[in-house]
Amino acid sequence: MHNSLYFTTFDPLCDAPEVCGLCGTRPPVFHFELNSDKYQKEALSRKGFCCEICATRLLKVLERTESQEWAEEEAALAADDFDTAEFHQRLESLRTLVRSK
Ligand SMILES: [Zn+2]
Repeated sequence: MHNSLYFTTFDPLCDAPEVCGLCGTRPPVFHFELNSDKYQKEALSRKGFCCEICATRLLKVLERTESQEWAEEEAALAADDFDTAEFHQRLESLRTLVRSK
């Protein structure tokens, strides 16, 4: 299973809550669904409505989960004496992308 994070807009007149379901302080701007099979070594599945700041946090959760898996894959490849330079470059690109926000 791949880790995934989906955002959608929603009709403000629907049954959306008045505040973000994650922080409980700001108005929600997106509906989200996060599925991770290895977040901190456990499966994580959440969905609901979130604000912009929590949307960014969710993206970082996805990045941490994915970069951890890629790092484990890189270590396994290196242990088998495969050239991991290109793989490492992709991993750093993923990390840089999220950090630049
Ligand atoms: Zn929030």
